[in-house]
Amino acid sequence: MVSAKIENKVWHGIGVSSGIAIGQVKITDRSRVAVVETSVEKSEIPFELERLKKAMAKAKAELSSLKENIAAKRGEEHLHHIDTHLMLLDDTMLVGETSAIIEKEGINAEGALKRTLHKLKEFFSGIEDEYLRERSADVETVVERVLRNMVGKKQEPISTIDGKVIVAAHDLSPADILQIDKSRVIGFITDMGGKTSHSSILARALEIPAVVGLERITGGIEDGATVIIDGATGAVICNPDQETFREYLKRKQHYEYVERELLKLTDLPAVTLDGHTVSLKGNVEFIEEVPSIKKHGAEGIGLYRTEMLFFNRASLPGEEEQFNAYVAVVKEMAPSTVTIRTLDVGGDKIHTDLNLGDEMNPALGVRAIRLSLRQQEAFKTQLRAILRASALGKVRIFFPMISGVGEVRAAKAVVEEVKAELRAAAVPFDEQIEIGAMIEIPSAVIIADLLAREVDFFSVGTNDLIQYALAVDRTNEHLSSLYEPLHPAVLRSLKMVVDAAHAAGIDACMCGEMAGEPEYLPILLGLGFDELSMNAVSIPRVKNILRRCTRKEAEEVTAHALTFPTAQEVESYLQSVIAARFSDSFD
Ligand code: PEP
Ligand code: MG
Repeated sequence: MVSAKIENKVWHGIGVSSGIAIGQVKITDRSRVAVVETSVEKSEIPFELERLKKAMAKAKAELSSLKENIAAKRGEEHLHHIDTHLMLLDDTMLVGETSAIIEKEGINAEGALKRTLHKLKEFFSGIEDEYLRERSADVETVVERVLRNMVGKKQEPISTIDGKVIVAAHDLSPADILQIDKSRVIGFITDMGGKTSHSSILARALEIPAVVGLERITGGIEDGATVIIDGATGAVICNPDQETFREYLKRKQHYEYVERELLKLTDLPAVTLDGHTVSLKGNVEFIEEVPSIKKHGAEGIGLYRTEMLFFNRASLPGEEEQFNAYVAVVKEMAPSTVTIRTLDVGGDKIHTDLNLGDEMNPALGVRAIRLSLRQQEAFKTQLRAILRASALGKVRIFFPMISGVGEVRAAKAVVEEVKAELRAAAVPFDEQIEIGAMIEIPSAVIIADLLAREVDFFSVGTNDLIQYALAVDRTNEHLSSLYEPLHPAVLRSLKMVVDAAHAAGIDACMCGEMAGEPEYLPILLGLGFDELSMNAVSIPRVKNILRRCTRKEAEEVTAHALTFPTAQEVESYLQSVIAARFSDSFD
């Protein structure tokens, strides 16, 4: 069914890369290959096995040549996304399982491959962690490529698309995204995908507006239809009427104006009107995000989440692989500081050598530093890689999910052990490397004064702190109204943490999402945070408010905010402050 004639048909998906794009849609056929499973004679089995082998080899050759082309055009930077797919083609499970099905069941190669895919998808769908679950899409993309080779179905490369269009596809692979020429493809929409799929990560890194997870949009729009996509809200409007068109055009111009104006702040210092400095840093998970945080004026990295390196694989990354990943980020950011967080995953979140089996209550289970302290060899490998990277730039280490002094001491003892080994082997590292604790568990807040004596800095992870302080699962959409960053308990916790840090003479940093909310800046400044680390686009927005405040007025706002009994009252008070003081700010 096509809805070309319906004006203003609105679709809601997941906005994964900010920005508004308005243009004609170009539907790109990324539809599934229709597979017919047929029985084959015993004598034909070797032939089917050979077909599988050849189709896999062809897929590998295609991906390798794509990799070369992209490297020539864009450089090496994003190629590991393609490497992931190449690795999957080498995966023994994919070939082994499929060959076994052909032999045992006596069916054709494409039928067997489809069955393997089905099995793998079932396996992935049972995984709780969103990032890992979405890796199922990688397997599917790779299998589709192999199937296309078997049935001889060609796919139009994104690089040949002409005109200025918004690409619509069932799904787009990282290789597709890397072929996008931004002067011709101004945005994309897909049926499939989620916030952490590789394609979405790349869209954010390359700053291409995108909405994914639209489920059936490719079947519901016509090639050439006019569409508006809002990469922030996830709205897609098909065949907009004049009024909607004008409204979005205005919004788009405003967004671009704001981006342009805010980017002018990039090189200006993050300093208040009365000369107080707050260090504004960026949060990253991948090297790809570094250019964007630099462009938006990050003074360093306040949170490098290392867990992404550990996902989507059967075995743990070794020391060299980790070292290379950390060094790449450290060199790219030099001479600024990179704050590397040690592994923050839990039993059910990762299906690798670290898997500890099912837990009744994973959020309260063997996660983060608890896991590292139980898997000391893996922990030491990571620490060695981080310490070695510290010889090549300014690095800080911090530990996630610290609940007490014992854990900090135990983790620091492992750091000392690794340092001693490196010293003995004459491997260079920064002897003065700073060690921090994430404050994201209420017990850590309550004993912040005791913890402050053990570390060089605190970094508050508000995403978890709010969840644990209020007993509200951060991923439960039914509880989102109870997930209140401005809850008096949260604000008092933040005050306790900052005060304890300063009494001990160490820095109080924040790297949870709360740090990137411009509206909260007066309170965070008033509480006395020394460093705020956030996503790229928030940096200039927060800086804009910071540069227009005085520390003194922020302290007054904070003192007043702390007197309210509910989050709603704090919120409306803050809104009145923002309206009175910053109504002409860019948002
Ligand atoms: C946090 O909890 O606020 C945080 C920064 O860590 P993560 O979101 O990775 O748990
Ligand atoms: Mg956390």
